[in-house]
Amino acid sequence: MSQFQYACGECGFRTPWSTESQGAEWQEAHYSQRHPGIPPGGIVRTREQGRSGSGGGGGCLGLVVVLFLLLLAASTCRGTARSAPAQAPVAIVWEVGR
Ligand SMILES: [Zn+2]
Repeated sequence: MSQFQYACGECGFRTPWSTESQGAEWQEAHYSQRHPGIPPGGIVRTREQGRSGSGGGGGCLGLVVVLFLLLLAASTCRGTARSAPAQAPVAIVWEVGR
């Protein structure tokens, strides 16, 4: 669900985050009180209410996935780095034994 914040174009007033109709109501009320005769203007900001909470979780999960991939890549690199020297002595031993 989207939330709307209306910022006054005449002063630094901002409405709290709310619904579009509620924000417009506050904005009109503010203009009629503080800026009578001026048609309501300014900036309307929107944000997703649901994402502010789960968005952080999603970002965290994304970070965890990246960390996991990094660990996976690191362990894969180490695995190949380890297996290469580990195999080499075996080959040498086999050649020596022959
Ligand atoms: Zn104002």
